[in-house]
Amino acid sequence: MFDIARIPAFKDNYIWLLRKDTAAAVVDPGDAAPVLEALRREGLALVSILITHHHQDHQGGIDGLLAHSPSVKVFGPAEESITGMSNPLRGGERIRLAPLDLELQVMAVPGHTRGHLAYYGEGRLFCGDALFGGGCGRLFEGTPRAMHESLARLAALPDDTEVYCAHEYTEANLRFALAVEPGNRALRRRADEVAVLRAKGMATVPSTLAVEKATNPFLRCKEAEVAAAARARGAAENDPVAAFAALREWKDSF
Ligand code: ZN
Ligand code: FE
Repeated sequence: MFDIARIPAFKDNYIWLLRKDTAAAVVDPGDAAPVLEALRREGLALVSILITHHHQDHQGGIDGLLAHSPSVKVFGPAEESITGMSNPLRGGERIRLAPLDLELQVMAVPGHTRGHLAYYGEGRLFCGDALFGGGCGRLFEGTPRAMHESLARLAALPDDTEVYCAHEYTEANLRFALAVEPGNRALRRRADEVAVLRAKGMATVPSTLAVEKATNPFLRCKEAEVAAAARARGAAENDPVAAFAALREWKDSF
């Protein structure tokens, strides 16, 4: 099993550092400086960079990392423009990071961007800006249907999957979730726990898929209270995609 370290970047990004012995990989290095600092401090050699999508806060550090270690492999979405990409992916592949003794399943999860990928292995999911704690990414390049299907694919992974998303957005997401589903007791409990963590400046990521399925409205479009809230926002009845679209639109202006 590989170890994981959280490298905070910018205001609310997380860069995930995967390591085994002295070999390391990073997911979505938006900034090189804190990654180089962690590698130096821990005496690690970077072997791979995994990119979920093209936004600058996820790939802006690639240049700086390649300048430091030119032979690093850069995995990312084939459909998107990724700096220094050596291994373009479309989803459905299995990739092997030999120095970390790690095999990852690549999943296409379009919606936030056209080629957005998620990486899953050893019970851990790296999902970038597709699924967040208590929420999901904005639809910049995809349709509600595409995003709804992407989230369903992620939700089909085992319940105990740890969810390593790329932003600390949970607290604000849960405020919205409570507006959608005030009667959800698991959600209230989670919102209280998250508020305590954030007041202490602590991270709320990773969560688990079980927690997300119980509290994240974007994974709960078929639940009666969520569906009713979506209908009140104009969604047709018995249409989970329309419910998802209504929720996403509501959240955009919440
Ligand atoms: Zn993004
Ligand atoms: Fe982002």
